[in-house]
Order: sequence, then structure tokens, then C-alpha cells
Amino acid sequence: MNQQINLQEKMQKNFQCSNFGEKKLVFGEGAQMPVLMMIGEAPGGDEEKQGRPFVGKAGKNLSSFLEVIGLEREEIYISNVVKLRPTKSSPKTGKEVNRPPSKEEIAFFLPYLMEEIQLIAPKMIVTLGNVPLKAVSGDNNVTIGDVHGKPYNLEEERVLFPLYHPAAIIYNRALSQVYQEDLAILKEFLGTL
Ligand code: URA
Repeated sequence: MNQQINLQEKMQKNFQCSNFGEKKLVFGEGAQMPVLMMIGEAPGGDEEKQGRPFVGKAGKNLSSFLEVIGLEREEIYISNVVKLRPTKSSPKTGKEVNRPPSKEEIAFFLPYLMEEIQLIAPKMIVTLGNVPLKAVSGDNNVTIGDVHGKPYNLEEERVLFPLYHPAAIIYNRALSQVYQEDLAILKEFLGTL
């Protein structure tokens, strides 16, 4: 736990010296040495407000995901590649809205994510969407459409299991069936760990 706090302090300090401006960082949370570490893209508005990953609407998606695979939130560890909420000003309303994280943001936070994975030491990493898939696999050419639902061996006997991002399912209902099939594979795979 101390090492985790040290990592967060290091991240916070280096972030304050960076050019990303003033933003609240949302760190990962959950069990140490869990069977599963889930990695999303970046926090949204609810996460930034509450200072916790996957709350609000994304938290509801997470609950149904956990129900299907038979795990509790407390049993897993949850984080994001990028620890700030990437925003832009909406041309219509002028309000701050979410945007995908930039290459620079991903590059800044990636080394910390790698350290976080080493500290948390999960058996399996579930990535949600392309951003965490590319970050964790280290392969910029891989795409979720090709590898979703297929376990992939990482170093240190760790397994990467790529899933679509739940938001992709909301925007593309045809993916819903595929996502459910991937969850069934994941559940079966977890039973073998
Ligand atoms: N909330 C998060 O914390 N991460 C995501 O990727 C999406 C919503």
C-alpha cells in the first residue's frame, strides 16, 4: 500500500511540473494481488468529481460486468491508462465535454501504469477498448476488433484479456452480442486460474 501511495505522490509531483494544466488526478483503487485488474481509458466527469475510477454511469456498466463474471468490485483492482479527465470545450454549448486522451497524455501516464501493474500484481488484466489494449500490450498496431475475447500471455505469467469498451457497445448495438460472448469466455477462463 505504501508503495502505491509513493507511486501516486510521484505521479502527482511530476504532473504538477508538466504542461497539462491544473487537473485532478483519479488514481486506481482496489484489491492487491487480485485475480483481475481492469484498465479503462481515462476518467469521465463523474470520476473526476468523486476522485474514483468507474463510478456514475461507467460504474453501473462495471456492476453488470462483474455480475456476469461473478466477482465483487472489492475483489478486483480498477484503473485507467490516463489519470486525468481529457476534456475540450463543446463548440455548441461552450461547456467542458469528454474527448479521447491525446498521445502526449497517454505517453505521460504509461510508465506509471506499468509500475502500477507491477505493484498490484494481478493474475489477469482486462483492458477496455483500444487505448489500454495498446498501452498494456506495447503493440501500437493491435486493434480491439481483431483480438477481443482472446486471452494473450504477458510477462510474469500474467494474462491480458481484451474487451471492447462498454461505451462502444452503447454506440454500436451490434457489438452487444459479441461483448456478451466475450464475457462468457472471460468467465470460463477465470475459472481456470
Ligand atoms: N470511467 C473510467 O474511469 N474509465 C473509462 O474508461 C470510462 C469511464
